[in-house]
Amino acid sequence: MKNPVPIPITRKHTPLFDVAQGVTGLQVMMVNVYFISYGDETGRPWFLVDAGLGQCAKRIRKAAETLFGKHTRPAGILLTHGHFDHIGALSDLLKIWFVPIYAHPLELPYLTGRSAYPPPDPTVGGGALALMAGLYPKKPINLGERVQPFPADGTIPGLPGWQVLHTPGHTPGHVSFYRESDGTLLAGDAITTVKQASLSAVLSQKKEIHGPPAYYTSDWQAAQQSVSQLAALQPTVVASGHGQPMQGESLPAKLSALSRHFQEWAVPKHGRYVDQPARADENGVVDIPPPLSDPLYNFRTILLVALGGIALALLGKKMADEKKVKNKGKGKAKKKKPFSKWR
Ligand SMILES: [Zn+2]
Ligand SMILES: [Zn+2]
Repeated sequence: MKNPVPIPITRKHTPLFDVAQGVTGLQVMMVNVYFISYGDETGRPWFLVDAGLGQCAKRIRKAAETLFGKHTRPAGILLTHGHFDHIGALSDLLKIWFVPIYAHPLELPYLTGRSAYPPPDPTVGGGALALMAGLYPKKPINLGERVQPFPADGTIPGLPGWQVLHTPGHTPGHVSFYRESDGTLLAGDAITTVKQASLSAVLSQKKEIHGPPAYYTSDWQAAQQSVSQLAALQPTVVASGHGQPMQGESLPAKLSALSRHFQEWAVPKHGRYVDQPARADENGVVDIPPPLSDPLYNFRTILLVALGGIALALLGKKMADEKKVKNKGKGKAKKKKPFSKWR
């Protein structure tokens, strides 16, 4: 029998929010990082889960100091996966924190510069953030020997009570973290609690259970199995890479419904990876299906470019008109001045 979540979510409208005993989240723009601590005493060990977007290292450090005291540093950094929005601050953080980083062995190629992820599919998801996916960074980070695989037995060194669960699909080596004693689940991008493709939903942070962000998911069958695996845990709280944590009596039913209706609710109707996944092994991507020509996507892209063009043209016209008026004014003044002078 799981214990109830002992800490209520009290700071949900601030960047820092409580998830469960010893688990706090920090929202940095559209993505969350988490702090997991062990024990009660001051100076207790703590771990950072994921590292958000670039330029947010300072905010992560400040939040850590708020929680654990000045000049604190984690015992380690645990990565759910290596997408750019989950590792952005790593290079800055590693300049001051000489700590181990852990990831799943199948995620290491994308964290050691050996392979790029399969390209995102901006034709799926149907929102502005999905459309922008083609602009996201493509090159893999290279953490070299600073990143190491999680132990094969699913434990985290120095953090008893937590399990590492391999939950592939969104990426080949995606993992979630689960604490069985109180049913706390950190699901990374295997499950999201906001409709991540939609800019308006991301801005409002409206809580809804969803599958992984579609534009970046390259194996839907594996993603479905991962959601079934997580739903079967019947967690008491789910905290994801995107969105606010969800808890309550109805949570297991919501997760179970997502698992049962995954095909209709989470898998796009069409898309590059829908019928055929990208295949990967311990060295990275092996093969990827060809891009789909999506007339609707092309239409939307053309529309966006056209709207941008019209906006630029209007802006240009406005500036030209203003210049004309100015010059006219100047011209008149010039003509008038000599005329008045001559008079
Ligand atoms: Zn991701
Ligand atoms: Zn993400």
